[in-house]
Amino acid sequence: MKVPILDLKRQYREIAPELEPRALEAMRSGAYIMGPAVADFERELASYLGVKHVVTVGNGTDALIIALRALGIGVGDEVITTPFTFFATAEAIVAVGATPVFADVDPETYNIDPKSVERKITKKTKVILPVHIFGQPADMTALTGLARANNLRLVEDACQAIGAEIGTADMGRKKAGCVGDFGCFSFYPTKNLGAFGDGGAVATDSDELAVVCRALREHCGGKNGAAARDIMEGRPAHPDGGPVDALYNPYKYYNYMTGYNSRLDTFQAEILRVKLPHVDGWNSRRAWNAAYYLDNLKGVGVGLPGVLPGVKHVWHQFAVRTRYKAEMGAFLASRGVSTGVFYPVPLHLQKAFDTLGYRPGDLPAAEALTSESLCLPVFPELTEEELDYVVSQIREFCATKG
Ligand SMILES: *Cc1c(COP(=O)(O)O)cnc(C)c1O
Repeated sequence: MKVPILDLKRQYREIAPELEPRALEAMRSGAYIMGPAVADFERELASYLGVKHVVTVGNGTDALIIALRALGIGVGDEVITTPFTFFATAEAIVAVGATPVFADVDPETYNIDPKSVERKITKKTKVILPVHIFGQPADMTALTGLARANNLRLVEDACQAIGAEIGTADMGRKKAGCVGDFGCFSFYPTKNLGAFGDGGAVATDSDELAVVCRALREHCGGKNGAAARDIMEGRPAHPDGGPVDALYNPYKYYNYMTGYNSRLDTFQAEILRVKLPHVDGWNSRRAWNAAYYLDNLKGVGVGLPGVLPGVKHVWHQFAVRTRYKAEMGAFLASRGVSTGVFYPVPLHLQKAFDTLGYRPGDLPAAEALTSESLCLPVFPELTEEELDYVVSQIREFCATKG
């Protein structure tokens, strides 16, 4: 039997009758950039998340960059984040001119460890940037407490966690990405909500920050640009700033700051509008698959992911821990089961960050995790027969290790 790590064609087949007419409509519309579907999707996603504003952008990396820029983060500032994440998390910090500071992770949940974050706070720290890794929310109660106590901003990298939920005593129940100043999302095709190309979004409850993001994604021109500059410079927004959600503006070629060209295509917005109502169902199927692994791999000899009490995990990935990572990956491949190595190198030891001066041994929990974590297929359309096959292969491999 062959079990892929992900098969996007299965999802496509399921929703093709819904998608195809809408895709055609988008192609026939003639409004390819900032067409009406973009604002429609932003409203629908904001309502799904329970947040005041969603501003779509070109991809998840840009969502992080634009969020940090909107908070005024730049040269001389430190942003504390996790080394156990996709490269883009820290790349975005460098892109705005700031310095990533890596804290260690919790070996059970794989998320950033608030105790380690606390030890990394300095006078230069401006932001804590947790990642809800593999779809499980980080410990937002502890991180929110740290941010408040130290007057820091909180930006959530929710690229892998759309639909995840956090229950906190003081905040009630919230969706991942809606607790901090900003939540950043990616619609890269393999994410839990994937477009047919690149896409991303920021979510925020702040009217002012939303205006700044709308400006930054389109060269800071026009009314949004004028308002954004005033906001960034601490003045009341320009009287000609117009309605905060103005997508079209007549002063297009007047620019007030430098920003980016980072918009979600109308076509992608139309695809995402069709897919959004399916996300909860897909996430439930991921959770069912994860529960199947948790039940059937207990005591077999691989480390299983821990779930924090009170959170809804959306299982972007299901990572087991094993001392025999490479050997188990090769064994499973020989039996037709694909696995993923997320992530092979902790970010503090990436070549691209060698000037930051980290050494092996600096963040032991993250280093151990990268050497041991192997991701199993967990995508929604897996069949029970496939899950059963994966489990039986892992049991067979582990039996040879005593
Ligand atoms: C995918 C991802 C990103 C980047 O998103 P893109 O849309 O690929 O730019 C950032 N952070 C995390 C944790 C991701 O998984």
